[in-house]
Amino acid sequence: MTPRWSNRRRDKQEQRVHEVETQATFLLPGGYRAPDGELHREVELAPLSGREEERLAHCEPSTGGATLTMLLTSCVRRLGAVSPVSSDIVRRLLIADRHYLLLKLREATFGDRVQATVQCPWEECRKKVDIDFSLHDIPVRASEDKGPLYTRELSPAAAFSGERGEQYREVTFRLPTSEDQEVISHVVEDNEAQALALLLARCIRRLGPLHDPGPEVIHRLSPLARMEIERHLEEAAPQVDLTLAAYCPECEREFAVPFDLREFFLAECKTSCDLLYREVHYLAYHYHWSEQEIMTLPREKRRKYIAVLAEELRRVSHAV
Ligand SMILES: [Zn+2]
Repeated sequence: MTPRWSNRRRDKQEQRVHEVETQATFLLPGGYRAPDGELHREVELAPLSGREEERLAHCEPSTGGATLTMLLTSCVRRLGAVSPVSSDIVRRLLIADRHYLLLKLREATFGDRVQATVQCPWEECRKKVDIDFSLHDIPVRASEDKGPLYTRELSPAAAFSGERGEQYREVTFRLPTSEDQEVISHVVEDNEAQALALLLARCIRRLGPLHDPGPEVIHRLSPLARMEIERHLEEAAPQVDLTLAAYCPECEREFAVPFDLREFFLAECKTSCDLLYREVHYLAYHYHWSEQEIMTLPREKRRKYIAVLAEELRRVSHAV
């Protein structure tokens, strides 16, 4: 039986459930260049709700990239003039823009503080080190030139030789996207040099007089030329620096550690479907909200209502 007090509050609570969705609005450090050439930078992002958690519970843990694409596609409500935003567009975002969206999604869902554990990298120590930081402290650099194409000159030593010995130094490229990252991800672990060559083949649009030079030409680039082009790519791209400075109290050494925010966030989000459905049932039973309404609540909000409800039920049962 529904306790009497919940009926008394029903109107007020029903009114509130529609107001809780809070969206964050911000600019991407790079931006999405649509096929018509227009640049879209302003994002409207909603926090994670029960709907995404339900889908997340069914995802394989090994498919982190695809899972994040699914979450972002669902939570990015608008990108400039583009709405809805398809998974293809999310995949074509610049790498730093995707990192930035992940940062913002984490903040919208759980707040900006991150408490995590990393491992001390020193071979003889390897102790677990607690880190505690704010997402606001992560350095973000917007790109000045929004491209989409960039032309740079290689040093004379890095010049590319044509078939008759001509020397070419001008290179035109676009910036890498998460789609590129996805494609090269299976190569990166085995062979970093090959992964870079594959990435360059996708991003380089012109080398001297050669348009879309392709993997064979890229293969003939000297290691110095590849290194210079990689540096130009990095300098032109927006940056989200997820390298953290940490201190190990055990061996008293400082170290820098790349923080895998994606893995951390996906682990935080993972709720079992069982628990999710029990929470939905609990709220539906006492507040008389529909399943649809409860599943669209951001998770923190849902948990807060559950905590308030549990407290109230405790008080009622003590009063009896
Ligand atoms: Zn240590």
